[in-house]
Amino acid sequence: MKIILLGPPGAGKGTQATMLMKEYSIPQISTGDMLRAAVHDQTPMGVKAKEYMDAGDLVPDDVVIGIVRERLQADDCKNGFILDGFPRTQLQADALKQVLAEVDKQLDSVISLQVETEALVGRLTGRRTCSGCGKGFHLQYEPPALDGTCSSCGGVLVQRDDDCEATIRNRMQVYHQQTAPLEDYYRREGLLTVIDGMGDISAVQRAIVSTLQGH
Ligand code: ADP
Ligand code: ADP
Ligand code: ZN
Repeated sequence: MKIILLGPPGAGKGTQATMLMKEYSIPQISTGDMLRAAVHDQTPMGVKAKEYMDAGDLVPDDVVIGIVRERLQADDCKNGFILDGFPRTQLQADALKQVLAEVDKQLDSVISLQVETEALVGRLTGRRTCSGCGKGFHLQYEPPALDGTCSSCGGVLVQRDDDCEATIRNRMQVYHQQTAPLEDYYRREGLLTVIDGMGDISAVQRAIVSTLQGH
């Protein structure tokens, strides 16, 4: 199963990708996670990416395309993958098409999660991530059993630097300008399913799985 999850910041892409990864035994490819790892390790790419990420702007296409091109060639992508947060521009979508053609693969489904803007802001400001294992939480909607502590590994929960209100507003705008047009692109390719992302996590999960069962 080769899937793209589209949707604005906070729509639930990472949350649903984690679920799909278990359901289908395929890797989640999150360009955001990979970029944050590079920032953390202070690699040359991470140092360059950090200023864009802090501002809530997109990291240049060539950087992100390079990462994904390499990642898709790994052995664990043989049976499929879930792209979470990529592509985000038309150029990235074109590059993805080319990379997949080179390895003779085709996308099965593009799922776009629709969530109202004010709900997105609430999801992003309450988002917390485990610094140990990367598991996602939400202060209100997916709270840990013990405040500030990961329920899986006991790690410390942290807030992303870019999950502050000013940066969030810019990320929304960037999404509408640069990424939302990809819906039309994938609709024309016959791959798009729009899913209501306003329900709770398990309701959205059921809707996604039932869509994928049709493929
Ligand atoms: P994205 O990867 O699209 O930015 P996330 O999966 O990180 O979004 O979700 C953003 C935040 O909202 C997280 O804190 C997550 O726990 C929470 N969340 C995800 N899906 C839902 C949902 N259906 N209802 C309520 N909160 C959700
Ligand atoms: P979100 O939870 O907002 O969907 P991500 O974790 O996917 O956020 O991305 C965080 C940041 O990383 C983005 O604001 C952007 O700066 C950078 N980034 C992630 N994916 C891409 C991409 N495909 N193209 C350009 N920049 C990206
Ligand atoms: Zn953890």
